[in-house]
Amino acid sequence: GMHLVVEDLAKRFGDGPAAVASLSLQVAPGELLGLLGPSGCGKTTTLRMIAGLTPASAGRIVVAGRDVTALPSHKRDMGIVFQNYALFPHMDVAGNVAFGLEMRGLSRGEVTARVARALDLVRLGALAQRRPRELSGGQQQRVALARALVIEPSILLLDEPLSNLDAKLREEMRTEIRDIQRRLGMTTVFVTHDQTEALAMCDRIAVMRAGLLEQLGTPFEIYEQPRTPFVADFVGRTNRLEAVCAADGLIALGALRVRARASVAVGPVTVMVRPHRIEIATQPRGADWNGCAGRIRRVTYVGDMLSCEVEAEGAVLAVEQPTLPGLPTPREGDDVTLAWRVADTLVFPG
Ligand code: ADP
Ligand code: MG
Repeated sequence: GMHLVVEDLAKRFGDGPAAVASLSLQVAPGELLGLLGPSGCGKTTTLRMIAGLTPASAGRIVVAGRDVTALPSHKRDMGIVFQNYALFPHMDVAGNVAFGLEMRGLSRGEVTARVARALDLVRLGALAQRRPRELSGGQQQRVALARALVIEPSILLLDEPLSNLDAKLREEMRTEIRDIQRRLGMTTVFVTHDQTEALAMCDRIAVMRAGLLEQLGTPFEIYEQPRTPFVADFVGRTNRLEAVCAADGLIALGALRVRARASVAVGPVTVMVRPHRIEIATQPRGADWNGCAGRIRRVTYVGDMLSCEVEAEGAVLAVEQPTLPGLPTPREGDDVTLAWRVADTLVFPG
């Protein structure tokens, strides 16, 4: 069965709008589930309710078949890592990691052995005697992770654990956290507002918006089959075009007619196409493609691609071209033909 079940969980602070409104999620044993959404959408509140740090206004939390909704945090058996690490500055690394075990009354020998194992796991064995201020951001982050794991929790909860790290280190820590989580088979809920991080790390992603679950699926499903314009926009870059679906099923973008990957009711629609799925065509395309004429307004070189703005059908489309040797280089003012697959033409009602 599912290791963590969250049922109709809700939180209202005072008489404001619901910070979390009737959220339901299930996390399988050993799964890493991401909570992804913009700032203020209720991710931290959800995590704190799961941890028992914020009482729920309504709903149920079940861990391994046991209802823990009424249990205090320390009886829920969860390891938590916050964005700011919250390390004790006056204690060394080993002391920080040992603290939770000492609170639980474990023997000195057991504490020492477990701390050593946890520090090895995060590759900090050599720095056990350092104080937090003598560590880099990445190392402090790993201490916080060791401290959460040392209690051998049933569930690991991570709230934006990488946000304070610079870009390069963040990418390294993604892999490191993911490896440790897999090796331990640790059921994990990972909060982030960073879509790339969520796509790269999670088995499944719950996209949240204004206290509600907008879509839950694998990274592939969230990216390739977004259920709403919000998800398409939030997870990955996309062009967004207002259009009209006619009775014949074709979609009118100005004077242009295109086909979409799914059918939609007649009337106003939103069409979305990702910039890197639009090609500046050098040859005619088959029936599975849409296309139109356009004029390049701007080309920006960003290393791995050329980011172009193309005026077409009265709109401006973002188009990203890989910088592969052999591909013609688009230039500002060029008249071009754009082409993109019907399968990449997302359409939403309204
Ligand atoms: P996120 O982590 O996604 O950025 P939060 O869960 O922190 O979002 O916040 C969700 C909403 O709940 C926000 O509107 C926030 O202002 C509000 N909120 C969070 N904590 C409190 C609190 N202790 N008291 C009142 N409002 C809060
Ligand atoms: Mg938060």
